Amino acid sequence: MKGEFEFIDGIRRTFPVPDGITGIGDDCAVIPQTDGWETLVSTDMLVEGVHFLLEDISPYQLGWKSAAVNFSDIAAMGGTPSGSFLAIAVPRTTGAGWLEEFLHGYRDISGKYGFPLLGGDTSSSPDRVSICVTVLGKAPAGTSLKRSSARPGDLICVTGFTGDSAAGLDAVLKGRPREGEVPYLIDRHYLPHPRIAEGMSLARTDGVHAMMDISDGIGSDIRHIMEESGVGAEIDVDRLPLSDELRAYCRRFGADPLDFALNGGEDYELLFTAGPQASIDVPHTVIGQITENRGLVWKGSDRDFNGFRHF
Ligand code: ADP
Ligand code: MG
Repeated sequence: MKGEFEFIDGIRRTFPVPDGITGIGDDCAVIPQTDGWETLVSTDMLVEGVHFLLEDISPYQLGWKSAAVNFSDIAAMGGTPSGSFLAIAVPRTTGAGWLEEFLHGYRDISGKYGFPLLGGDTSSSPDRVSICVTVLGKAPAGTSLKRSSARPGDLICVTGFTGDSAAGLDAVLKGRPREGEVPYLIDRHYLPHPRIAEGMSLARTDGVHAMMDISDGIGSDIRHIMEESGVGAEIDVDRLPLSDELRAYCRRFGADPLDFALNGGEDYELLFTAGPQASIDVPHTVIGQITENRGLVWKGSDRDFNGFRHF
């Protein structure tokens, strides 16, 4: 099979989108309404063995994370929450207690961020758990922040810390003892917090141009902004926001934090670009600059970083 992104490009070419609608290629589809708002829609799957290990993640964490990764795509557009739909397939042997705990996690995050559950679908599955969430949001007409609006000279910014979640996954896969910084990193992997309030604030800030959430790692995600906007980027790896816990983990186990921050994914932080004059009140770190020249330059490293791909 071709690469994941070539596969999606093929779908995009086969299904042209009607005028006025943003379809494939952004974190959400954007559908204009006649009441001064636009509707945001996105869907994301979590498949056992691919996105999570059932023997490690708790049902509560899985319920939370299934919703979180989807809510994050509304945050990525600067949208206001409207609701979600939950489709789930589980083996017949799954206990009622497991499902109850799963729903408990899903309910807690839905309540915290204001996404009511509005429907879904339920099925049995031959052996594995599979989850698909669809999320809906809205934004005042024309205000959603797309991947396609970056301009040369923009600063490249990121909220929070990058790489924690990928280090948490590394700790799970390598069976690291759950002590010191490890529980924090694993929490960052299993219980991400979508940046809904930050996204809404950035969408209201003059001079903020393009935005997306970090799901596949900056090494992959910045390329989406570059491609959709027809620009290049220069990222200074020494400016990446790395938590003390990530640094400690890398020191202890001899790993390179850049691998987690740039090649790893699932931080669900916001990656955005803004004109140098923009007055931004959301806490963030400037990590580079959008360039007219279409290439991608990693300042401070002689390596290349490509992020995570499914195939
Ligand atoms: P994200 O990481 O923000 O969820 P993805 O990388 O999963 O985004 O997808 C990139 C874009 O491709 C999105 O606009 C998404 O809707 C679209 N896409 C992905 N898979 C498919 C598919 N099977 N059919 C139609 N569109 C798809
Ligand atoms: Mg996204």
